[in-house]
Amino acid sequence: MMTVNEDEPLCICDICDDTFEICAEFITHLKSEQHMKELSDIVPRDSWYCKPMHFCHVCNYPGYDEYNMLLHNQSEDHHRKSRGTKSGPIYSMNLVPGV
Ligand SMILES: [Zn+2]
Ligand SMILES: [Zn+2]
Repeated sequence: MMTVNEDEPLCICDICDDTFEICAEFITHLKSEQHMKELSDIVPRDSWYCKPMHFCHVCNYPGYDEYNMLLHNQSEDHHRKSRGTKSGPIYSMNLVPGV
């Protein structure tokens, strides 16, 4: 007989080397400033502009590779934010005709 209910897996943040017993805490951590700072320290940067190579300007989120960016673009957070900036500078730029 197997009893695996007692052993809940910990959530681990590889980037900050932090562990969380509750997944909700882990998700909160992923959005925290501390995590964002760690993340922007390790993401690959463009050698010319010194900016993160993968970066979401809508959420101010640096991704560490294309796959990470893909996951981010599909996340609920990103969708909510990109809907919220409909009248922001990103969209209005396209509406301004060239002078
Ligand atoms: Zn972290
Ligand atoms: Zn985003």
